[in-house]
Amino acid sequence: MKYRYEEFTWPEIRAAVAGNRVAVLPVGTVEQHGPHLPLVTDVLTATEMSRLAVEQMPEEAVLLPSVYYSFNEHHMDFPGTIAVEGETIVRYVTDIGVSLARHGFRKVLLVNGHGSNVPFLDIAARNITNRTEAVCAMVPWWNLIPRELLASLRESEFPGGMAHGCELETSVLLHLRPDLVQMDLAEKDISFKRPSEFFFWDLQVGSPVFFQEWFSRYSRTGTVGDPTLATAEKGRLFVEAVVERMKALIREFRAKEIAPRVDHH
Ligand SMILES: [Zn+2]
Repeated sequence: MKYRYEEFTWPEIRAAVAGNRVAVLPVGTVEQHGPHLPLVTDVLTATEMSRLAVEQMPEEAVLLPSVYYSFNEHHMDFPGTIAVEGETIVRYVTDIGVSLARHGFRKVLLVNGHGSNVPFLDIAARNITNRTEAVCAMVPWWNLIPRELLASLRESEFPGGMAHGCELETSVLLHLRPDLVQMDLAEKDISFKRPSEFFFWDLQVGSPVFFQEWFSRYSRTGTVGDPTLATAEKGRLFVEAVVERMKALIREFRAKEIAPRVDHH
């Protein structure tokens, strides 16, 4: 059964809408990920985990072509990064979701692979919900890792061991695309000033403060974390757990009733 949106014909899209399938849109970014990981890392993680989930439930979801470019101006001191204005990414993703809603899709799920996409995709998801008959949700893939699994597999120090090109992302890449990982170049880099109660960065538990400055001010290598602790086996366990929870999320979202609005004026 087909699940890749771009391979459908228009009558097949009409049938997919009639089947109440969830439209899943991976969104990544093209940016430096240290000396050992490819620029495509955040696209690859979001896309592959989405694909693995949707291909196991094709009667319930469709997989859209991924959005590659997004907001990452703060990485521009490192060669390779392609930076898109925040307003552009909000409008671009909103337009994709509005198009899907105009064709009749009622559930749109954004699967995010890039930390700095969060505020922009949150706005885009709200725009899609506010402007159409559909509802849109957004999930960063790392939020789907069960907390116990993360705590049991993690070896890098806290805070800062898991942030960018780190133990987590490198492990996932070692599982998904080992040919793109240069472990001989992986280097621990947690060079931001510590200890700090408010100015740190870690995917496991975030700082209470929203703060992002030029990446080159606090990272020598383009990495924040300890990729030397990454293994393909950890990556396999992370990916399998995320895919299972993503399937559960898609099922619940698909079944979720869209209640009628009430105008209380
Ligand atoms: Zn990343």
